[in-house]
Amino acid sequence: MSPYDWSMAMTLRQAAPEEIEQVRLKALRRHLAHAATVPYFRDLFHKHGLVPERAQILDLRDIPLLDRREIEATPQQFVPRPAPEIVDIAMTSGTTGKPMVVPYTAADLDRLAFNEEMGFRAAGITAADRALLTVTLDRCFIAGLAYYSGLTRLGATVIRSGPGQSARQWELINRFRPTVLVGVPSFLMALAAKGKALGFTPKEAGINKLVTIGEPLRRYDHSLTLLGRDLSRIWGAELFSSYGSTEMETAACECSAGIGAHIHPELLLVEIVDEAGKVVADGKPGEVIVTPMGVSGLPLVRFKTGDIARIHRDPCPCGLNSERLGAIEGRLAQRLKVKGTTIYPEMIFQALQERKEVGPVYIEVRNAYDLADEITVIAACDDHGVSERELADLLRSRLRLRPEVKIKPKREVIAAMNADGGRKPKKFFDFRKKDI
Ligand SMILES: [Zn+2]
Repeated sequence: MSPYDWSMAMTLRQAAPEEIEQVRLKALRRHLAHAATVPYFRDLFHKHGLVPERAQILDLRDIPLLDRREIEATPQQFVPRPAPEIVDIAMTSGTTGKPMVVPYTAADLDRLAFNEEMGFRAAGITAADRALLTVTLDRCFIAGLAYYSGLTRLGATVIRSGPGQSARQWELINRFRPTVLVGVPSFLMALAAKGKALGFTPKEAGINKLVTIGEPLRRYDHSLTLLGRDLSRIWGAELFSSYGSTEMETAACECSAGIGAHIHPELLLVEIVDEAGKVVADGKPGEVIVTPMGVSGLPLVRFKTGDIARIHRDPCPCGLNSERLGAIEGRLAQRLKVKGTTIYPEMIFQALQERKEVGPVYIEVRNAYDLADEITVIAACDDHGVSERELADLLRSRLRLRPEVKIKPKREVIAAMNADGGRKPKKFFDFRKKDI
């Protein structure tokens, strides 16, 4: 029997913030007690005098942040004693290195399904909805499985279509009339274009909600990016961006207010820290640090996600009182220093969305002589509708930097982005020497 009940969980989210914090504290103490069965955390808690049963949320700040490289270097140190029974082996996408193995127990899968169910409920999705799932359930990918199990737990109908093959997706759309699409924004955009080419009108397909993953659709101030605006307009649908990762075993999904993704209070503790690892004030950007509570296979405490975002605690018009995580503003490892300011590749991608002629884009970065980063933007464009100079000017006007821009045929750009055979196309090539 699952310990997770959605109607109780929904009541909690509408309770006063102090009441929510009480439930979170109980979940945290239980989680820390389980984490203490892991040799790495047992030693760490001992060293820092943390007693799980008596810990307060603020006490966590004494515990050092955990980098994924520590887990990769000594995976045995992270296995609970006694070792739990594993039922599913998930792997990270490996876009920022070697894929990391994340073992799930049966309880973890139940927790994951509940987590996703609550995300869909916050987005107003009900048992009456039908969802076309255009992300994969295989290749040790956890997000597809999470969406699937969350939707079925909710009682909605899932059409497990998987990625790619736009023409086949349209056959499914026309035959089963889904009301919800789940997928990666750029794919959902390409799917709409394919529909138009086939003579269909995406707006009239009956889709009223898009739940997206992998690419941000909003800026830090919650306004939609151009991709977000186009996507919403072309499908005539509401957007719900979701954020999660294989290691954190938890996700957060936007509600209809579109001002951040609600964090599940009984499942996740999020802290935002600056470069020195100190917690920053609400509304300020920093690295997202997660403590996913209730995980049994690979319990983590203060895990560094490498993603940059902000946390918001002001009241949400949707009526849920759980705090919200803003849009992902960039990856820490992809931070670029140009003329004394910090920018992220995502800002370049978003600026280039203004030019419809531009297809996929990737970035190369090298050290320049003055210790700034030298950025080259490689953009796909087949019809010569735009020049390298125009794109460089556009970037200068939007971001006050003028990187070198190279336009290449779409086929060539896509081949370069997929050359390493990863699950996601690579958009950032880092040739910077780390030791200077
Ligand atoms: Zn809300």
